[in-house]
Amino acid sequence: MSDCLFCKIVAGEIPSDKVYEDESVLAFRDINPQAPVHILVIPKVHIPSVAAVDADNAAACAKCLEAVAKIAAQEKLEKGFRVISNCGPDAGQTVPHLHFHILAGKDMGEKLL
Ligand code: AMP
Ligand code: ZN
Repeated sequence: MSDCLFCKIVAGEIPSDKVYEDESVLAFRDINPQAPVHILVIPKVHIPSVAAVDADNAAACAKCLEAVAKIAAQEKLEKGFRVISNCGPDAGQTVPHLHFHILAGKDMGEKLL
């Protein structure tokens, strides 16, 4: 997707503060952090959101969750972390490329879920 912000980050056309990369996943620090640790984990292939995950692209989605576990260990998030994926306008999704927020580094207290 040539006009997708996160595809441009994958392509290196827009810089990012990378924390993890493998053949199918990229993770970088959120530009507007909502917690002391705020990392976005994205598939390198363009998937619009969780709502667009299907049998053909589910492996890329699973690779993201595998990367979440690796990043949690790498970033020493042993006290815990929250994983969020906003999907669609009511959830406040602003970038239409599947991404998982990793939030950590503080007691997040009362939960939304
Ligand atoms: P969402 O609102 O769930 O779609 O999340 C999109 C996230 O992308 C927001 O938390 C933004 O702060 C973040 N974001 C937008 N542009 C960039 C960028 N260039 N680098 C890193 N994070 C970004
Ligand atoms: Zn994209």
